[in-house]
Amino acid sequence: SGYCAATRSFRSKRADVPLPADRDLDVVTFLASRRHAGTVALVDAATGRRVTFAGLWRAVAGAATALAAPPLSLRKGQAALILSPNSVHFPVAALAAMSLGAVLTTANPLNTPAEIAKQVADARPVLAFATRDLLPKLPAGLRVVLLEPDRLPSDPAAVVATIGEISATTPDPARRRERVTQDDPATLLYSSGTTGPSKGVVATHRSLISMVQIIMTRFRLESSDRTEAFLCTVPMFHVYGLVAFATGLLGCGATIVVLSKYELPEMLRAINEYGVTYLPLVPPILVAMVAHPKPLPLGQLRKVLSGGAPLSKELIEGFREKYPQVEILQGYGLTESTAIGASTDSAEESRRYGTAGLLSPNTEAKIVDPDTGEALPVNRTGELWIRGPYVMKGYFKNTEATQSTLTPDGWLRTGDLCYIDEDGYLFVVDRLKELIKYKGYQVPPAELEALLLTHPEIADVAVIPFPDREVGQFPMAYVVRKKGSYLSDREVMEFVAKQVAPYKKVRKVAFVTEIPKNASGKILRKDLIKLATSKL
Ligand code: AMP
Repeated sequence: SGYCAATRSFRSKRADVPLPADRDLDVVTFLASRRHAGTVALVDAATGRRVTFAGLWRAVAGAATALAAPPLSLRKGQAALILSPNSVHFPVAALAAMSLGAVLTTANPLNTPAEIAKQVADARPVLAFATRDLLPKLPAGLRVVLLEPDRLPSDPAAVVATIGEISATTPDPARRRERVTQDDPATLLYSSGTTGPSKGVVATHRSLISMVQIIMTRFRLESSDRTEAFLCTVPMFHVYGLVAFATGLLGCGATIVVLSKYELPEMLRAINEYGVTYLPLVPPILVAMVAHPKPLPLGQLRKVLSGGAPLSKELIEGFREKYPQVEILQGYGLTESTAIGASTDSAEESRRYGTAGLLSPNTEAKIVDPDTGEALPVNRTGELWIRGPYVMKGYFKNTEATQSTLTPDGWLRTGDLCYIDEDGYLFVVDRLKELIKYKGYQVPPAELEALLLTHPEIADVAVIPFPDREVGQFPMAYVVRKKGSYLSDREVMEFVAKQVAPYKKVRKVAFVTEIPKNASGKILRKDLIKLATSKL
């Protein structure tokens, strides 16, 4: 199992991956120096436009040169925001910014202007990369590099350059570079962690480099001369897409076919047209593939990689029955672990139904009893703690949240209730933390509760995850009305819907006279979840 009774911790059964010793190394230099036989790095699924590896690294170097020079003058330590759907330009912007030592932050394009403004106020980016459609969602005053090849006369004055212009800049090898080390921050992705609102998760170049090594080892594509094509259905603004598609897989010569927005027909067309062999996705897409009355044509597809939320046994079985030629592999991880903490890497490993797989290389784990704090042995359920080179540095400007999530000796409390079996396989049983995941997107209940409490007729409220076959979970609100109020469930839902991104909408409401809380005033969410699901 990899369990050590003396330290009461588990050690991954996978061989460690080597980590570069040179401290002066950024993830982009590391990626660009990988040797492989691949030629096409990125394909835009909608237009068929191809970007070769040579073209990609030239564009990244050119963009970095232009970003470092006036008028953009992006410097080490400054934050840059990307607000964009998936595109072949996304990795260019991300890699160019990180190569300068700038810190990349990303936002969900579905977010409202108010939600984006909140993140901007926290991360304080000095510039934003955004598509034309999304410009109205950006706060005023932010300088913009348009993630479109060309400019239009009607573009607003905030647009300083386009990705087309900056990536066509002649790279200047003699440019004065700031020293970027593995310990410098590289990304600032937002996650609510175990409790409260969204917070910036600081990952360093080392976190990314170690995750890239883990991803490359997982797929072992570097030495193969067969070109694998991965279809990018998952968003690049999320750790899953950012670390796999905008970073990791670019190091191993695979071709990434980019879908700007997931839709089933478009996904199928791309799989067949571009000879896709690997399909990373979130469980709701698997649900749709299994629910389809006839097996869908999947061309040369060989592997489906599911992550971001749990997969049920019936879903795995349903998929195997319908698509026996395709292997399902699972991955488990969180923003705070810079992606993958455990995974199944072969059909053999996945056959252990329900497992999220073996711990990633270079990973230690503890299973900790949430009540007593005691570390538990094999097959006992408790909170999963993990330790590895990819674990975040901490939450941005939030010592309190950092201290309650990271222990002084480097353990990350995941907030997931898990056990590890006698062979070292991880099973995710439940979520201890309050987070709701709708189609793999994070919905922090604390944010919705704070919003609902601003309603003049609401005295108290608790928001919990409600299970759903299609989307995983959606937010449900337990509401205590103020005296004399006749507020209806529809009014509550509309109040929220008007102010949040669509994936955060409250989709079920129940009225109660009191929200159950413990002595220190913490909402007893588990009691409410039991109450809500008792009739299912
Ligand atoms: P995020 O930070 O948005 O990636 O969300 C991370 C959370 O998603 C984890 O802490 C888990 O609760 C959940 N999650 C991710 N992958 C899996 C998986 N394979 N099985 C069960 N839950 C998962």
